[in-house]
Amino acid sequence: MHDRLTKLRRSLSGDVLVPEEDGYDAARRCFNALVDRRPAVIARCRGAADVATALEFAGANELGVAVRGGGHNPAGHCVCDEGLVVDLTAMRAVEIDPKARIARSGGGATWLDFDAATQAFGLATPGGVVGSTGVAGLAFGGGIGHLTAQHGLTCDNLLGAEVVTPRGDVVRAGPDGDEELLWGLRGGGGNFGVATRLEFRLHPLERVVGGRLTYRGKGVAEALRVYRDVVAGAPGDLSCETLLELDESVEPILYIAPCYTGPEDDPGELRTLREAPGLLDDGLREHDFLDQQRVFDPPYGEERNYWTGHFVRELPDELIDALVERMTALGRSPGQILIESLHGAPKDLDAADAALGFRDAAFNISAMASWLDPALDAAYIEWARETAAALEPWSVSGGYVNYMQADEPTERVRAAFGDAGFERLQALKARYDPANVLRRNQNIPPRAAAAP
Ligand SMILES: Cc1cc2nc3c(=O)[nH]c(=O)nc-3n(C[C@H](O)[C@H](O)[C@H](O)COP(=O)(O)OP(=O)(O)OC[C@H]3O[C@@H](n4cnc5c(N)ncnc54)[C@H](O)[C@@H]3O)c2cc1C
Repeated sequence: MHDRLTKLRRSLSGDVLVPEEDGYDAARRCFNALVDRRPAVIARCRGAADVATALEFAGANELGVAVRGGGHNPAGHCVCDEGLVVDLTAMRAVEIDPKARIARSGGGATWLDFDAATQAFGLATPGGVVGSTGVAGLAFGGGIGHLTAQHGLTCDNLLGAEVVTPRGDVVRAGPDGDEELLWGLRGGGGNFGVATRLEFRLHPLERVVGGRLTYRGKGVAEALRVYRDVVAGAPGDLSCETLLELDESVEPILYIAPCYTGPEDDPGELRTLREAPGLLDDGLREHDFLDQQRVFDPPYGEERNYWTGHFVRELPDELIDALVERMTALGRSPGQILIESLHGAPKDLDAADAALGFRDAAFNISAMASWLDPALDAAYIEWARETAAALEPWSVSGGYVNYMQADEPTERVRAAFGDAGFERLQALKARYDPANVLRRNQNIPPRAAAAP
């Protein structure tokens, strides 16, 4: 192995890290501290040729492959035991063509990289709400954030990509290449290849009215009802998500994080949210989009996490009450329940352009258990599963692949696309990755070849 590694180091323009070397432990760390894996090789790639070399090395040495972008996937798919990590963290450049309103982003860019580059030109595309999340990883699973109502899911704004296939070929996804591959990348995750460059449509965005409103105690359930009604009637210039937590005295806390981009100084929807019961802190203000992207800023790699949930077709009073009740079920802080509204642009865009199948849902609701003590793993995982079970009567379109744990069965992944969508993705997978080299993801097994 030593000689082969020396050869890999010579042929890669980026670095190669192996256990015990400086930087190895930091490079294998992911957002979810529940995941603690030790790959044999971390290949820090600098371009498509490096990615092809790393994949070839993995194949020749029978090493499993994991692909690392921002390292945020709660399933820990960015790192594997014994295998090789295709690490894209050195590929973070983002170039802007302000005239054409297009961003070209490296395969390992984060939203902080992306938003800083686009905002320098007063432009933006809908991304995730935490800056350190990877652009590609998030976009390939859909992408819900502060501009979803205005401009759709992140993947709706993905125009094309350069992809290195597991065989080492460099292919184009998009109208000037394989359109079916672009369709598959819009929701089908990292199943088909490693994207080294992605192109996104940009939209003008100078300022937003955003920040967050905090509610506490008995008013929380009522404030959630107000939130539900506001987004049901909201125009396409208001995105809005909410987070339920517990404070130190085990009282429910609700954060509502609107992002308004319309022309009014004091829009009626925000007034209504401010008037909801239990308001403890009004943190709404006019600010730039980079500040809006800092409204949620969790620590990286410190907490253990187990996330699971459902898209739902509605958010009735009964479900709101059940969710608020679930927050106190553990008798201590269980983490969070996230509610993301899918009103506005996701409904207006052509569903046939993307593989994902959750566009028609009203909300995405996720039980996000997070804790520090390993002795509490079972209790927190059970809390998340039971909370997700409470959502089932209202469930549509399975769960959100971007938030799934590694133990979700294939049937849940299938449900996220619907039978027809899943089978079409399986055919695409069979074309690009028939041996399922890229299986550390929300996996789409390749369609078996028809019997002769
Ligand atoms: C704190 C936090 C906040 C989040 N916020 C949001 C949010 O606001 N909205 C939302 O929709 N999701 C959000 N997510 C979920 C996130 O979008 C997914 O977990 C996504 O997979 C993370 O991508 P990553 O590159 O950071 O992760 P990684 O763990 O590095 O990558 C995850 C997987 O994505 C694939 N992948 C990544 N880069 C590439 C590439 N260049 N080519 C091919 N495949 C690739 C690979 O299969 C890889 O294993 C959040 C997650 C966390 C932990």
